[in-house]
Amino acid sequence: MGFSDTFPFLHPVSRQRRLREVITDTFGGQEPHLEGRDSSGLTGKGLVASGSPAWARSQSIFESLPDPFLLLVPEKNPSGSIIDFVCVYANGLASALHGRSPSGMLGARLLDVQPSHGLFDHALQVMEKGQAVVVEGLHGAGHGGPVPSHPPEIRLFLANGLLCCLWREVTDRMAIQQQLVEAERRYRLLARHGSDVVVELDSDHRIIWVSESIETRLGWRPAVLLGQPAIGLVHRDHRGQVLLAGLRLAGPGSFREELRILCADGGWRWMTGTAHSLPREDAGTLMLSFRDIHDQVRIRVELDHRLQHDPLTSLALRSVALDRIRRALDGLEGTGLTLAVLSIGVDGLTQVNDALTHAGGDKLIALLAARIVRAIGHPEHVGRGTGDEFIVLLSEPDAGADVTLTAERILRACRAPVSIGGQPIEPTVSIGIATARAGVLPDELLRDASLAMRQAKGRGRNCYALLDDALATEAHTLLLFAAEIQRGLVMGEFAAWFMPIVAFHTGQVTGYEALARWVRPDGIEVPPADFLPCAECRGLIARIDLLVLRQALAALSRLPPTLTMAVNVSAATLALPDYPQLVAEALQAAGVLPERLHLEVTETALLTITDRIGQQIQQLASSGVRWYVDDFGTGYSSISHLRDLPIAGLKLDRSFTGALRTKDTKSLRLAQALVGVAEGLELDTVAEGVETLEEAQLLSSQGWLHGQGWLYGKAAPLQLDTAPVPL
Ligand code: C2E
Ligand code: CA
Ligand code: CA
Repeated sequence: MGFSDTFPFLHPVSRQRRLREVITDTFGGQEPHLEGRDSSGLTGKGLVASGSPAWARSQSIFESLPDPFLLLVPEKNPSGSIIDFVCVYANGLASALHGRSPSGMLGARLLDVQPSHGLFDHALQVMEKGQAVVVEGLHGAGHGGPVPSHPPEIRLFLANGLLCCLWREVTDRMAIQQQLVEAERRYRLLARHGSDVVVELDSDHRIIWVSESIETRLGWRPAVLLGQPAIGLVHRDHRGQVLLAGLRLAGPGSFREELRILCADGGWRWMTGTAHSLPREDAGTLMLSFRDIHDQVRIRVELDHRLQHDPLTSLALRSVALDRIRRALDGLEGTGLTLAVLSIGVDGLTQVNDALTHAGGDKLIALLAARIVRAIGHPEHVGRGTGDEFIVLLSEPDAGADVTLTAERILRACRAPVSIGGQPIEPTVSIGIATARAGVLPDELLRDASLAMRQAKGRGRNCYALLDDALATEAHTLLLFAAEIQRGLVMGEFAAWFMPIVAFHTGQVTGYEALARWVRPDGIEVPPADFLPCAECRGLIARIDLLVLRQALAALSRLPPTLTMAVNVSAATLALPDYPQLVAEALQAAGVLPERLHLEVTETALLTITDRIGQQIQQLASSGVRWYVDDFGTGYSSISHLRDLPIAGLKLDRSFTGALRTKDTKSLRLAQALVGVAEGLELDTVAEGVETLEEAQLLSSQGWLHGQGWLYGKAAPLQLDTAPVPL
């Protein structure tokens, strides 16, 4: 590649150096001078050396230059001072720039070409000092053609005593520079007013620059932060994550993390931090930009919280609590440590709901939740189970020997008196405790705690029970048994059997009592005493009661219309809000008059009834159904109940009848008094457990109207046999 080919692409300074070399090569040590000098000035053909081959080569180089180029010699006055510069050579571009022919340029004076004194003064300086200068911002050069928006840059330098003058168009460069200034201005505006915060860190991750927007976003004055380690602004929860990301970012690249960033007022704001490591010469420095996502994160966190927490108590939902237990159990792996799970049941919530409406019940739950949280000290260790149950997770050391102390503390905290809806109440809870090591399933642990809680309720409430091995086995058996009952119900193994009730003075059967029976596929008859407690505590009793009710009414529809049917109702069934409706539907389905149905409620169940249940009893009584108090004489029921509730009759508990057999005078007198009460209130009476004729006679003589017992028949599937039994 030839010299002249590469020449135009050289940097202006290099180009200037090469030109100097070319001129020195051409003229050697000679002083160049002009030919054809006349009186009017310099009009000759050019340089002396113009004929030489060196000059011809130089000229072709000058012509190939991308810039206008002049060679000038100083013009001096007689006293030797330079008064102007005379052009001894101009390339085509220079001639065009000044609107003359190349020969017309010869002899032209610098002050003609560039009328301002500026360039002349610079030229003088170059002559004096021998150093090149770059002159910018001089207008005036050029004739014709479009005026450039920026005056060209003029380079003046000396070569072999000749003044070289090189014009360079700077419009493009100036435009680029202008764009840079503009970009910088926009960037500054963005940095100051934009929503993002931009931070530059050195290789030690100290802040070396921070955008002014940090003041609006986070309240920091940028100057305060300069030189500070950037990690100090990151919440400690995210520091590990940031350091890890930093390690990943050892080379050029970027990462994005959601972080809480410290505000000047000590608060925290959620921001996404995006980091870019800078390449090459800035290696090690990091550019971070932070976008404020505080509101988005807050909404997201709130939503998560709502999905995972009970709105009433703000406690974690059962699934979340289970998950925490699972994680805690996983954490015990290989440690030999234990943890405890407490199942806390609110005592008598149904009664509170009935007495104070559900809003009152909710208030009680929320109050107890707060009391339990306070007693435990860690809200995140307390969860809301199903219904009235709370779940507490205790890790070591609380899970060790202290667990019972914690349970006692909870019991004490919960039973402080409180007024809800203007009603003073003393709430209590029952606590079940189950402990476990790693390897136990959280579901099982929670189930064990719930079973222990029921055990505590069974022991009289307001206490705790530890799930010991015996209890665990018992609880397990109970669970299996409940599953068995459920299966039996589905398979239709439950049925109503009937026991006759007889009028003492006629010996005629006046009706029957329906009693639940479970006849298993293997033929074993399971008595109610065996399955009722389990059905009651596993919530299956209402299904059994309703099944017996429907079967009993169906049977009654096939009996003479003078006969009645007694059906037992447990407290849980009675509490069903649609119980009156269910009874009405069953009566209608069987086509039986309500008056023929006797509903038996035990004296003990009557003690727990609330106003709402009282209203249901009233409603059914109004429809014609007759209410009987079962097991009368055993449950300390107040006479006021008999007066206030629409009771039609009393059933003397069979323990009295048994006592008559042994001639227990106290029971005898009590039975006498009870029949007196019934007579006073004009109630029907039935004496249960009559096994002998003698008992029947005695009870009849006391005034009892009806008898029921083995003397008249055991419970059996219905046989339409109503033959009178002699007294
Ligand atoms: P209960 O309502 O007091 O029923 C009378 C129980 O005494 C029946 O026991 C009956 O077989 C028994 N019995 C009656 N006469 C005699 C007698 O002369 N001698 C002896 N030794 N026992 C006699 P059963 O059928 O085992 O029922 C036990 C309890 O189970 C019932 O006592 C009742 O409280 C409950 N029960 C039975 N069926 C149902 C039901 O469908 N729903 C509910 N909620 N409870 C039921
Ligand atoms: Ca009964
Ligand atoms: Ca009874």
